[in-house]
Amino acid sequence: MSKNKKHLAILGSTGSIGTQALSVVSQHSDLFQLFVISANSNHELLYQQVKKFRPKHAVINTKVGYEFLKKRVSLKETTISLGMEALSQLVQCDEIDLVLTAVVGSVGLVPTISAISANKNIALANKETLVVGGELIMSLAKSNGVKILPVDSEHSAIFQCLVGENINSVNRLVLTASGGPFLNLSKENFKNITVSQALKHPNWSMGNKITIDSSTLMNKGFELIEAFWLFGLSEKKIDIIIHPESIVHSLVEFVDGSTKAQLGWPDMTIPILYALGFPDRINHPFKPLSLIDCQNLTFFKPDEFRFPHLQLAYSCLEKGGTATCVLNAANEIAVEAFLNKKISFLNMFKLVEMSLEKSIFVNNPNLEDYLYADSETRKITSELISKI
Ligand code: NDP
Ligand code: MG
Repeated sequence: MSKNKKHLAILGSTGSIGTQALSVVSQHSDLFQLFVISANSNHELLYQQVKKFRPKHAVINTKVGYEFLKKRVSLKETTISLGMEALSQLVQCDEIDLVLTAVVGSVGLVPTISAISANKNIALANKETLVVGGELIMSLAKSNGVKILPVDSEHSAIFQCLVGENINSVNRLVLTASGGPFLNLSKENFKNITVSQALKHPNWSMGNKITIDSSTLMNKGFELIEAFWLFGLSEKKIDIIIHPESIVHSLVEFVDGSTKAQLGWPDMTIPILYALGFPDRINHPFKPLSLIDCQNLTFFKPDEFRFPHLQLAYSCLEKGGTATCVLNAANEIAVEAFLNKKISFLNMFKLVEMSLEKSIFVNNPNLEDYLYADSETRKITSELISKI
């Protein structure tokens, strides 16, 4: 393996972010070398990726997938491992320079902690990791001198606006939100929303879970929590505005009244390039942004009556402790139930609120407390679903 290429571990290489990252890697094979890739159950795609990229290690979570890969892959070139524990160990390999966490859900927490403990820089797409254990992640990153490079487009925008700036000169962060597919739908009609309608995001093509989160605005609530931990500003200094065109990816207002924004077409390749290339920008073919073609860029206040998850995110953040971990776990179970057509769109809001009322709360949690709050909340929310 070449010494001067960046060696990457990509957790969740078969997902929406993972495959876009692999496309960047294949277009810049002079810059990057894949060292570890992982999937949950999609062994067919993982196999294709192993054949194409020849990483040193591949990890899958299912026994079936493990057997499938073991039979077909040349083990001299690529080792095959089973499960998240193996993945958590592999991310610590000396050869790895950067770990892209692109798995979905709180399952990203443990391998991310493992990578930070081994002083690996993190390109973070998996926002749930910060929603669940932001305090733990950021303090460990700080003490280990590890960089957390945001991949989420809004946070990448803010991160880029902050280059060369002093964080104490920031007055306010403004996160933009597309508003999702139901931006203009009345609350009365929410009861009729189907899974396929919720999966049709107007601007972005993403994995199912984040697409549903975008339709309820839970995603923006999570991004508020993500921004709080990444940039260390009080939630009172983080605003959310609706911007349906998704061209302005977020803004930073400074104490002298100056405001910086980062703009671009809605394309995750741009923040992926920035995080993988940091501190350099990667020379990459692109379609120039034409503000004339964009025509009207519009901005307005979010409607917290129709999208109550936003307010829940603010209040959980204020409460601290395990509150945002519980919020995430309840939401993961509710979204899964909606995707499996077990509950209605409106019931997702109700379930998350009810779970927050019923779940345990721990102040100053450690990793075990987070994991316990996560698994207990999953049980509580699942029980609530069975009673609906
Ligand atoms: P996808 O559902 O498309 O992909 C998820 C990836 O994680 C897949 O590789 C999947 O494997 C793997 N995975 C799923 N469940 C598990 C599990 N239990 N254990 C281990 N691996 C698992 O998600 P996205 O790529 O859309 O999103 C990934 C993360 O990035 C999320 O946290 C999301 O919020 C964030 N993000 C995504 C954006 C996007 O544009 N997609 C934008 C900004 C942030 P398999 O294929 O085998 O199921
Ligand atoms: Mg985002």
